[in-house]
Amino acid sequence: GGVLYVVGTPIGNLSDLSDRAREVLAGVNVVACEDTRHTRKLLSHLGLSVPTISYHEHNRFSRLSGLMERLLRGERIAMVSDAGMPGISDPGEELIREAVEQDIPVIPVPGPSAALSAVVASGLSPQPFLFIGFLPRNSRDRTAELTRWKETPATLIFYEAPHRILAMLKDVARVLGDRRAAVARELTKKHEEWLRGTVTECIHRLEEEKPRGEFTVVVEKALLEQTGKEDRPASWWRALTIQEHVDW
Ligand code: SAM
Repeated sequence: GGVLYVVGTPIGNLSDLSDRAREVLAGVNVVACEDTRHTRKLLSHLGLSVPTISYHEHNRFSRLSGLMERLLRGERIAMVSDAGMPGISDPGEELIREAVEQDIPVIPVPGPSAALSAVVASGLSPQPFLFIGFLPRNSRDRTAELTRWKETPATLIFYEAPHRILAMLKDVARVLGDRRAAVARELTKKHEEWLRGTVTECIHRLEEEKPRGEFTVVVEKALLEQTGKEDRPASWWRALTIQEHVDW
C-alpha cells in the first residue's frame, strides 16, 4: 500500500544525509519537494533519477488531492523540504495530516534540523524547549507574539533571516528582557559560528558587520523576576563568547 515518508535532508553539509534517507529516496515513486531544481541537485548528487513533484508553500493545498490519490493508489511518496526536516517552518503539515486521516502510514526518516542542532549545543537547557520558528516580520506583530511567550518557562528557539536578525533580537531584549542567548550561524557549514551571551551582547557583536548566512536563535527561559521561580545558577555565562568555526 501507499506510504508517506517524511525525509530530513542536510541543512548545509551534504554528508549529513543518512544512508537510510538515500535508500528511501531511491525506492519511492516520487519525491514531493519545495524546489524541484534544488532537490534534483541533491538527488543527482546521490546518483538517483527518481521523479520529483513540487509541493511548496503556495501549492500545498492545490497539490494535496493529487498526492493523496497517488498514496491511496498504493504509491510510495517521499516528502522533503529544501533543507532540514519537512514541517519545521517548512511545508508538510497538511499532507501529513491528510495521510494520517486516510490511514496512510506516515514514516519519519530523521535528518538534521537547525532547531534541534542549535538547542542541543547552545548550553541552554533543552528541557523544556519551545520551538517558535519565524516571528512576524514587523515589529508590532513581533512584539505581540513575543509577549505571549514572555512568562513561558521554556527555552525558546527562533529562526530568523539575516536582514531581520538585529531588529528581531532588539525586540527580544525589549520584550523578554536581556536574557542569555545563543546565536548559531551557518550550522554544519564551513563558516559555522556561535555567539553565546546576553541578547544585548549578541546584538553589539552582530552590529560590527552586516549579518550574513542562516541564523537560529536560542533564548533562555523566562527570568526569575518573570516567573518567581529560581532554577538557574546566577553566575552562568558572565560574558559573550565567540566560537569560530572548528574543523570536524
Ligand atoms: N526545516 C528546516 C529545519 O528543519 O531546520 C528549517 C527551514 S526554515 C524555512 C529555514 C530557516 O532555518 C533559516 O532561515 C534559518 O533561520 C534556519 N536554518 C536553516 N539552516 C540553518 C543553518 N545551517 N544554520 C542556522 N540556521 C539555519
